[in-house]
Amino acid sequence: MARYAYVNGRFVPHTDAVVHVEDRGYQFADGVYEVVTIVGGRLVDEQGHLDRLTRSLNELRIAWPVSPRVLKILMRRLIGLNRVTQGTIYLQITRGVAPRDFKFPKHVESSLVLITKRAGAFATPAQLQDGVKVITIPDIRWLRRDIKSVSLLPQVLGKQQAVEAGAFEAWQVDPDGNVTEGCSSNAWIVTSDGTLVTRYANNLILNGVTRLSILKLAQESGIRFEERPFSVEEAYAAREAFVSSASTFVMPVTRIDDRTVGDGKPGALSGKLRQGYLDYARERGAS
Ligand code: PLP
Repeated sequence: MARYAYVNGRFVPHTDAVVHVEDRGYQFADGVYEVVTIVGGRLVDEQGHLDRLTRSLNELRIAWPVSPRVLKILMRRLIGLNRVTQGTIYLQITRGVAPRDFKFPKHVESSLVLITKRAGAFATPAQLQDGVKVITIPDIRWLRRDIKSVSLLPQVLGKQQAVEAGAFEAWQVDPDGNVTEGCSSNAWIVTSDGTLVTRYANNLILNGVTRLSILKLAQESGIRFEERPFSVEEAYAAREAFVSSASTFVMPVTRIDDRTVGDGKPGALSGKLRQGYLDYARERGAS
C-alpha cells in the first residue's frame, strides 16, 4: 500500500516527499516539531501537543502555516490515507524557505510537514518484563529546552552513546549532578518511601505532554508525588525508575549505568502508571 506524507499543501507519496534546500529547518534547525501517538486510529493528548506547539511557535515567533483547526483536519486526513490505527504522527513547522541569512526572512510562509509511522507495539515484551537500561551523560544543550525545537544534535549524540552502551536511553545531568531528562523522554524515580519524583518543568527540560498526563493520573489516584530535581546518586538508590514519552508511555528502568534499580524488576508503581496511562490513552485521552 502506498504511504503518503503531507508537505506544504500537498499529500505526496512518501518516497517523493521533499523540502527545498533553502528551508530554514534544514539550514538552521529553525523549526519546531511534535510527535503525537495514535491509538485505535485516534490521537492521544492532541490538545496538549497543540498547546505546546503553540507555545514553541510563539517563543520563536514562527507563524502558523495553517490554523490549528486545519492542522487537526490534515493530520486526520493523513492518518486515514495511510490507514494507521496504531503508531505516531510527526509534525514539523519551520520558518520557511528563503536565501540563507541568519535574521528572520520577511514575507515568507512557514513550512509544514506531516509524516505517519505505524507501530506494532509501543514496547517489546522483554522491555516490559525486564525493564530497560539508561546511562547518564552531561547535559550539553542550550538553555531553552522548554521549546520543542528540531535542533537535536546533543540528543542524537546522547542516544548513540546509549545504544553503544547497550542502553535504551541516556539521562542528561546538569552541572549540580541532578538529572534533567532523557534525550527523548522525561525521567522519573520512586523513592524508598514510595514518593514519585520528577523534575519540575522550567526552561531546563521539555514539559512532556505524557509527563503532565501522568502527574494528573497520579493526583487522581492519590499517589504522593514531588516535582523537584533528583541527583544521579538518588536515582541509583531509588526503589523504581521509569521514563515517559508519547511513544513509550511509561517505560520501566531497571538499570542506571552499572547499578541495578530496586530489586532489578520493573516496579509496581511504574506498572500501575503504565496501565493507567494506557487506559487513559484508549479512552478519555484520545480524540
Ligand atoms: N523530553 C525530551 C527532551 C523529549 O524530546 C521528549 C519527547 O520527545 C520528552 C521529554 C517527552 O515528551 P512527550 O511526553 O510530550 O512525548
